[in-house]
Amino acid sequence: MSALSAAFFHDEAATFAKLESLLWPEGPVCPHCGGMGRITNVTGGRMSLRRCGDGTKQFTVTVGTVFESSHVKLHL
Ligand SMILES: [Zn+2]
Repeated sequence: MSALSAAFFHDEAATFAKLESLLWPEGPVCPHCGGMGRITNVTGGRMSLRRCGDGTKQFTVTVGTVFESSHVKLHL
């Protein structure tokens, strides 16, 4: 099996899970306030979207990475 056979090269959800495990080993961290305690998942929107606190601060694990402004699906 090639290294390129890994699921995170073929499935966007798997790619988010892999990137989150690398960048957030202890769990999601808000890029706006650095907190971890008030983060919830946002359903029905972009993949792996999170919200911190009152809901005005939404983010994914790509914030602050080279993937942040990309319109290409993460696994590509
Ligand atoms: Zn926050």
